[in-house]
Amino acid sequence: MKEVLLIKLGEMVLKGQNRRVFDQALLKNIKQALRGTGAFDVRYAQSTVYVIPEDAESDMDLAEERIGKVFGVISYVRACTAEKTVEGIQKAAAEYLRAELETVKTFKVESKRADKQFPLTSPELSCEVGGYLLEHYPHLTVDVHHPDLVVRAEVRDFAAYVHGTPKPGAGGFPIGTGGKAAILISGGIDSPVAAWMMARRGVELTAVHFASPPYTSERAEQKVVELLRRVSEYGGHMVMQTVGFTHVQEEILQKCPEELFTVIMRRFMVRVAQAIARREDCGALITGESLGQVASQTMQAIACTDAVATLPVFRPLIGTDKAEIVALSRKIGTYEISIEPYEDCCTVFTPRHPRTRPPLSIIEKAESALDVEGLVQECLENIKYTKIRRAQ
Ligand code: ATP
Ligand code: MG
Repeated sequence: MKEVLLIKLGEMVLKGQNRRVFDQALLKNIKQALRGTGAFDVRYAQSTVYVIPEDAESDMDLAEERIGKVFGVISYVRACTAEKTVEGIQKAAAEYLRAELETVKTFKVESKRADKQFPLTSPELSCEVGGYLLEHYPHLTVDVHHPDLVVRAEVRDFAAYVHGTPKPGAGGFPIGTGGKAAILISGGIDSPVAAWMMARRGVELTAVHFASPPYTSERAEQKVVELLRRVSEYGGHMVMQTVGFTHVQEEILQKCPEELFTVIMRRFMVRVAQAIARREDCGALITGESLGQVASQTMQAIACTDAVATLPVFRPLIGTDKAEIVALSRKIGTYEISIEPYEDCCTVFTPRHPRTRPPLSIIEKAESALDVEGLVQECLENIKYTKIRRAQ
């Protein structure tokens, strides 16, 4: 029996005139996601993307797993192709869904007839298929309200398809349709989740990571690479820019009051990240901040950070609780990596009593002891580029 994957598109259906752009981006992303899974024909017709294996080597299990991580997909299902006759559909349903039909007690059939040339109406087809299944699986009864299994038959232009319950897709919009932004990524729990959330809205990512060797290790940086790899399973390939940040931090430590250290450091991160973002054609920065989580994430501290921002700073986690962030990070697969105990440049120099409501004037005065421009420039000349691809 020939299997295919049927993919239903999400919110993008609402996009009217831009619809074509979204469709094309989605097709491209689906093809990219299927790389390394074997040969598949990917085509779009009647608001469905068809993923059709081309030979015995095509790995349907892996393809299905990959499709589950493509943004812009609202649901997807493995189906079997049936001949476009009542008997063809009946036989396909009885055979293809054998394992499910043998285990459930109740079922119903739902049919959709997109090809109006087909001689039976949808209710008539459901009736014929239902009757056939009752004959072949005598333990079954029909329950139209709360069936254990819904058998779906779809009659389309090139073939008929039979399948069970579709799986929910990753949702959101196809990567690339929401612009491009730079994620400030640490090795923590929050920023990978923030990256994933913005990617889900169709945003292509580039990553900026600040490292402070020798205070932070090579292994800590590798951890960030691994986190981004997980994110790239959803967000596509990206580049990680590792910025040498040691000198900036040492300067702040020596020349500014300790209680202001973190906010001044954050302002440097924003200055450097947005210079990189502009070079990379990004329209925004993304951080994993959540209101009140730590001293540098109070409203006043965030205002001080944003005072140096000339690009919008997206903080998709701003109103979320830690427990929600953790739940999401488990779902994405970043949690187990995030909790590995490697130092981050933020934790190396944490002040004992950080100021939680720093007035901007005090911050600016403290910064006047530093060669801000020179330090930013130095960071921009000290960047390492790493290509991030999903682990195959
Ligand atoms: P996370 O779990 O994302 O590390 P956090 O709760 O530990 O967040 P902070 O350490 O205060 O919070 O960092 C706040 C945000 O600043 C992070 O979410 C991230 O966007 C950015 N950030 C922190 N450290 C770095 C770093 N070393 N490189 C790049 N961005 C960073
Ligand atoms: Mg952190």
